[in-house]
Amino acid sequence: MGAGDPHRRDQAPMSAVIDVHTHMLNHAWLALLEKHGRPRYTLKAVTGGLRAIHLDGAPFMTPVPEMFDWELRIRNMNRVGIDVSVVSLTCPNVYWGSAAVSLKAAQVMNEEMARARKSWPDRIQWLCSLPWQHEKAALAELKRSLKTGACGVMVLANIGGKALTDPAFAKIWQAIDDAKLPVLIHPTAPPGVKEMEMAHFQLVASIGFTTDTTLAVARMIYDGFFDRFQQLKIIASHGGGTLPYLIGRMDQCYEHIPACRTRTAEKPSLHARRIYADAVVFTDEALAMAVNVFGSGNVLYGSDYPHTIGDPIGCLARVDRLPDGARDRVRGQNALRIFDFPRGAFGAALEKAGAMQLAGLRRVEHRLNFAAKKRLIVRVVYEPAQRSGKRLDQLQVVLQAADEEGARGSRVARQRSVADEIPALAAFAGAVLGCRAGGQQQRQGKDRASHAGVDYSLSPRVQK
Ligand SMILES: [Zn+2]
Repeated sequence: MGAGDPHRRDQAPMSAVIDVHTHMLNHAWLALLEKHGRPRYTLKAVTGGLRAIHLDGAPFMTPVPEMFDWELRIRNMNRVGIDVSVVSLTCPNVYWGSAAVSLKAAQVMNEEMARARKSWPDRIQWLCSLPWQHEKAALAELKRSLKTGACGVMVLANIGGKALTDPAFAKIWQAIDDAKLPVLIHPTAPPGVKEMEMAHFQLVASIGFTTDTTLAVARMIYDGFFDRFQQLKIIASHGGGTLPYLIGRMDQCYEHIPACRTRTAEKPSLHARRIYADAVVFTDEALAMAVNVFGSGNVLYGSDYPHTIGDPIGCLARVDRLPDGARDRVRGQNALRIFDFPRGAFGAALEKAGAMQLAGLRRVEHRLNFAAKKRLIVRVVYEPAQRSGKRLDQLQVVLQAADEEGARGSRVARQRSVADEIPALAAFAGAVLGCRAGGQQQRQGKDRASHAGVDYSLSPRVQK
């Protein structure tokens, strides 16, 4: 069960867990890669017997059965305690084959994920893949993916060897920036694996990937990417690669090497506060360093499930050992803040996360559908009156109502049913969000209630 399971975390209510780095494949994508990825991409056995995808002879991605099995994913999420997975394709993504093949590969995966979200709307969200090498197709697929429910984009740290800051991608970045989307920068085999002899010991996994991410984000920093694109949110994989360890060195170079200052007026460690990173690291010390460099409001839980070196349980345990405030932010509150998850899809898990977020944000917007009446937006402002431990015990609730177009005042006043039902609404909102409040309500399920013969359905939307 997820965060709503009373048996699992009743003693210490914590934020819901949102996994922003986790992957799925499908057989159609793999078949396209096998057919069109050659000669550079090949699929063959590695030491130990599994078949891995190779780039220029170096193995770097090993498909495992869990990557094709959604039911098993949900069971494993339940087992670990992951409430919501923000799923993406992994490397080598769709940056191979002709324009038509690359677009087809993106579409078969994006459609797969859109279907999964429909099947598990309160457990699965997804990041779209785009054929970045083909600008027009990429822009069209971005638009289509957002329509079918994508909540962000996943991009590899290099696109067929090209840097993400290459002008060839500027229009795509602009579209992503305009839509204010989160983007997971995910590594692939870095250029030069052959020259660096990374076929040995499958060195791409231990060293190559983190180098790929580090190079990509360091380029963005020095290139002034974050000055140009201020609305999108970059999530650097694997704790930001080696950036937390090297950010001081990047500052030192910025101070003493003029070439580092040609494109940006801000030093790298300041840029880092505008970058997000996942928590897919394997020691407490590495996680602490990522939190220190990017800020506890910028690190997000990730598992890298189901990769062979993914570690959903260990990554969560390390997050849970962070100090209280940071722990809840990294578990799910940060993800809830930076992702604009599609409306109406929030299940109990995200409602719970919304409740926990009250301590920090205090404003929650509810969209209410009154049965047979006009749809209204009611803004509920919670002021914590008293705290007992980490749980809010009492709330002062202020309600402001407006209709869908934002009109307030007299139009709302005429909707007497809203004002009349406010006490019940407050009680209901409190109950749904796991906080105690006065009043009576009859619960009919997770997100429905009735009071004085009026049926409510409720979907909270946390204000940024
Ligand atoms: Zn990954």
